[in-house]
Amino acid sequence: MMKLLLANDDGIHAQGLQALAKALATEHELYILAPHQERSANGHAITLVTPLRAEPAPSFPAKHALACAINGTPADCVKLGLTELLKEVAIDWVLSGINHGSNLGGDIIYSGTVAAALEGALNGVPAMAFSLVDGQHADANFTAATSWIAEHLPTLIRLHQQAGFDARTAFNINFPPSQTTKAYQALAYCTLADRMYTDFYAKCQDPRGGHYYWLAGDPLTHTLEQDSDVTRVFQGHVTLSPIHASLLNVTALERLNTLI
Ligand code: MN
Repeated sequence: MMKLLLANDDGIHAQGLQALAKALATEHELYILAPHQERSANGHAITLVTPLRAEPAPSFPAKHALACAINGTPADCVKLGLTELLKEVAIDWVLSGINHGSNLGGDIIYSGTVAAALEGALNGVPAMAFSLVDGQHADANFTAATSWIAEHLPTLIRLHQQAGFDARTAFNINFPPSQTTKAYQALAYCTLADRMYTDFYAKCQDPRGGHYYWLAGDPLTHTLEQDSDVTRVFQGHVTLSPIHASLLNVTALERLNTLI
């Protein structure tokens, strides 16, 4: 049995979080801290100018030691949890998700799901982020992903330990579309795809004649590296990309040090 801090960016009421908790509740002690409303694409933002409140969520459906809705960001939830609310609890792992939608390639810089995991890593608690590729659709099914996690969590933890990773190395994990995949292909270790979007802002007119803008766009369809997370997840693999809570470009620093 492990003590697990569960967080997400889709909010305490999100199906992905509740399904994950349900799948892990019998074997583990769960501490659930999640935003009180959706905070997707909030990146690693934290709240400095307004007070945070952690309100118990009595109707949280899975068995748990603590479940609170917090009026902050995903990173706030994990930071407040590890620093204050759970300071007497030795949390073993932070698990974030399951996100309603993918966090592939360059997505992860914007992702609140990944930020919640990295906030664990920054506080010395190893972490994983889970995302379901088509999870944003109303008919998305989290069953396959949650049973995969329940079955493979010990393997993932053993991998992290065998590799000798420090706590600042987190796992970013994506699941193939739930509607097309009955059985997942093997776990694939992946690079983060250099995926670009055809970003554009829809320009619309408000009722008073002013304009407003709404981000839209699709992923570019270009050839991606074979071992990238985008390539592999659409081949049906569960993908794992190890990520780090440091933005330092180690290769570039070494390169600078070789220059006179
Ligand atoms: Mn989300």
